[in-house]
Amino acid sequence: MTMNPFDSTLQRSFPTIMVPTREPVAGMTTAGERLLVASNGVFIEIFRPWIRLIRRISSYAVSTAIPYGVVEEVSELLCGRVPPELIGAFAEQARAACPNETGGWIVWNPGTKAFRLVPVVVLSHDSASLRYDRPQLPDDEVLVVDCHSHGCFAAGFSTTDDQDDRFDVKFAVVLGRCHTRSMDVALRLCAKGIFERSHNIPVSWLDAVGEANDVAAT
Ligand SMILES: [Zn+2]
Repeated sequence: MTMNPFDSTLQRSFPTIMVPTREPVAGMTTAGERLLVASNGVFIEIFRPWIRLIRRISSYAVSTAIPYGVVEEVSELLCGRVPPELIGAFAEQARAACPNETGGWIVWNPGTKAFRLVPVVVLSHDSASLRYDRPQLPDDEVLVVDCHSHGCFAAGFSTTDDQDDRFDVKFAVVLGRCHTRSMDVALRLCAKGIFERSHNIPVSWLDAVGEANDVAAT
């Protein structure tokens, strides 16, 4: 008997793999997600042209024997280093907009390997949130870093940010205290509800933000 078309489409779009013990799992060839059921838990694998991630999302509550292989977490940044000058360009934009909030997307073209900053159209902003239109990207560009600023307030991720970021696969950057010579920078990886805050902001990014301040001060 075949399954109804709705569920069979849904399951094809998000398959579950039983991880073999004696060979690696075949790699994903198209963008998407899948579940990996392993002896050491249940993992989500996320593949985009610019990143590949495997994260454990569940462990077993009972130590029963699961006859599958072991999976390790993976982080592969396929697009390479995000150019610090684009973070600097966004810092200049954030400083110019302060005390208002502003936003921008750093996007990447897998064919040309080029990055660029796309300003977002702000619909409304207040101290707690920023509403903006998601930029329409050409088919050959993907979102890598979603940047927004908090005006004069500290950088960080609010519960509104958590709501906004829960479906995406991207880095999120927040700049705060944009009126000062020492802007705050907050960074995290967002991947389908997984949030990983990074407390080690790349030094090149901090330098680029500092230079944006110097430009504004002269
Ligand atoms: Zn925010």
